[in-house]
Amino acid sequence: MSAVLMDGKEVSKKMRVDIRADVDAFKAETGITPGLAVVIIGDDPASRVYVNNKKKRAGHCHMYSREYALPEETTQEELVKLIDELNHDDEIHGILVQHPMPKHIDESIIFRSISPAKDVDAFHPENVGRIMNGNFDFLPCTPAGVMALLDEYGIDPKGKECVIVGRSNIVGKPQAMLLLHRHGTVTICHSRTKNLPEVTKRADILVVAIGKAKFITADMVKDGAVVIDVGVNPDSEGGLCGDVDFAEIEKKASFITPVPGGVGPMTITMLMKNTLTAAKRFAGK
Ligand code: NDP
Repeated sequence: MSAVLMDGKEVSKKMRVDIRADVDAFKAETGITPGLAVVIIGDDPASRVYVNNKKKRAGHCHMYSREYALPEETTQEELVKLIDELNHDDEIHGILVQHPMPKHIDESIIFRSISPAKDVDAFHPENVGRIMNGNFDFLPCTPAGVMALLDEYGIDPKGKECVIVGRSNIVGKPQAMLLLHRHGTVTICHSRTKNLPEVTKRADILVVAIGKAKFITADMVKDGAVVIDVGVNPDSEGGLCGDVDFAEIEKKASFITPVPGGVGPMTITMLMKNTLTAAKRFAGK
């Protein structure tokens, strides 16, 4: 058996066509161009690639984007001041501060300073709370991208054993909530989980977000499982690989995401969707 490849690149391309049409209709109706501000502090090469991709995708979706590239030594106060200006800027509907941020900046203070209405990453405590109770405008981009991929391939989490490896605030925890809202039976694993392979082997849907190259091996996966690999790691050939051993697991899973080209493109597409939603809310829609 060989798994169906969940092609995030293709799915997100298709979604962007719909978003672009929606943006064009919105502009025609309101005269408002959805605007995204992307703030990057320092010169981390990976962050720079992500920021460039986000700007490029905003352009593809006929949105306006503005970049603020700030030096590493930017103070927390300076950053909060910029965010406050953007909170009051009517051309900007979504604000994204690329992370990781330099160590002297407290990310939680920065995320809290973004207006919840412009918080297109959904990291503000108000938006996090709304994800808990299922009453949300924005979903965090990576878990929302995973849900969109599942939907696209006709995979319904209802009643399924869903196991998530990783409990970060940006991926693992919100992913658990979204699968729970869709009636999955959810287990979250982390670095202190005992007998991890026993737990992962129960999964009908396995989502892995730990940041360790090829950590999940074929013996940890049930035959026919859906395997979603969120991880992005450098591999030994100078390329990228995920957190799961794709070559071996692909032989026994029913569906699997590649890295690159799986969850990554979906994440950026969900950011565009959130920016359009923010602009619509701004326009009272
Ligand atoms: P974090 O480092 O914030 O969290 C990692 C999680 O993995 C933690 O909960 C940690 O457990 C858990 N973990 C670490 N080692 C083990 C282990 N041996 N067994 C079980 N659990 C373990 O990572 P992120 O969630 O931010 O990112 C995870 C990966 O996803 C990274 O590779 C990142 O680059 C990628 N990523 C990809 C995105 C995309 O769009 N494709 C977007 C966001 C992230 P504990 O809490 O106990 O320490």
